[in-house]
Order: sequence, then C-alpha cells, then structure tokens
Amino acid sequence: MSLTADVLRLIAGLFAGIIIPRLPLLFFTRFLNMERSLSPHPDPITVDVPLIQRMVLMRRVHWMGWALAVMPLGFGLLVLRASAEPFALGLVAGVAWFAISRTVPQHLGNGLGILPMSLVKEVNNLREVRERCCDRPFPQWEVRAVRCRHCRSILLNRPRPDLGRVRADGRLAGAFRVLLSDGGSPFPPLEEEE
Ligand SMILES: [Zn+2]
Repeated sequence: MSLTADVLRLIAGLFAGIIIPRLPLLFFTRFLNMERSLSPHPDPITVDVPLIQRMVLMRRVHWMGWALAVMPLGFGLLVLRASAEPFALGLVAGVAWFAISRTVPQHLGNGLGILPMSLVKEVNNLREVRERCCDRPFPQWEVRAVRCRHCRSILLNRPRPDLGRVRADGRLAGAFRVLLSDGGSPFPPLEEEE
C-alpha cells in the first residue's frame, strides 16, 4: 500500500473520530422543530424556564456525544490490536481529541465541561431576582454575559454556550462553527470593568 493511501486513510479516520461524537451536538436540536420557546439565534435569550430546560437538554446532548464516542474508540482499538491500520489510528486519535477538549476546562473556575450543572444553577438563580439592578430587572443571556435588558448591568459574567438553536449563518456554516467551538462560547468571560 502506498504512503499516500495510508495518509488519506489516517485523515479519513481522524475526521470520523472527530465528527462522530459531535453528531448529537450538530444535529439533534437543530433539525427538530424546537425553536418555539426560544428567541432565534443570535438574539439574547430571556432568562426563564424555557432557557433552563434547554440548558438541561444540551447537557444531555453533550452526554450523548460521550456515549457515541465509545463506539469508534472501541472499534479503533480492536482493529489496532490486530494491525496498524491507519484509519483505526486516526479514529482513535480523533476520539481522544474529543475527550481532551471536553475534559480540560477552557477557563479555570468555570466547572467541568461545556455546560456544568453549576452554570445551570447560577442562571436559574437569576430568575428570582434578589438584588434589583433597576426598576425593571430583565435578565437575558447575550453572547458575552447575562445582562439586564434595561440597565445593562452584568448579572452573570459567563459567555453564552451553544444552545442548539438554528444558527443565523445557516445550518451548514453553523454546523461547522459549532464543530470548531465545540458547543462552547468562543469568548472568554468579560474583564471586570471596575
Ligand atoms: Zn436592570
């Protein structure tokens, strides 16, 4: 077998290993008609029950990714025990990258994973406004943080992760973007302004 064919098989395996665990994230909510309760992407989302439900659902979608990752990993390892097949090697490497990108926190202190339960709780706590920021508190999750719609104060300094909405840039480009950002937010938390 030629070297080129080997490299092509390695790359094909790598792509399969990278994409298979992310299939639920790419397609699950986006291709079902589940948009009714949430504002369309990329508009801010009102902090309310539908948002919390969607966050819990997205946590399940992330877990489905782990379940799907087991198959190519097992298959790849099984083949590699018999022979050094480049496709299987790529497959295992791709899944390993998925596992690393999901377990290493992007920003320290933010909890483990893209959507940690602590984040769901923090956002849920904002529904019952304890400290009123202004006369009409209206928390909504914007791209960079949860802010009050009326007085613009930052109520929770956490960028918004992907919430499975059909993205404004279309299904295909949107899917590619989700693949690159892995369902997290490409933005770091805002710098403290004071
Ligand atoms: Zn306010």
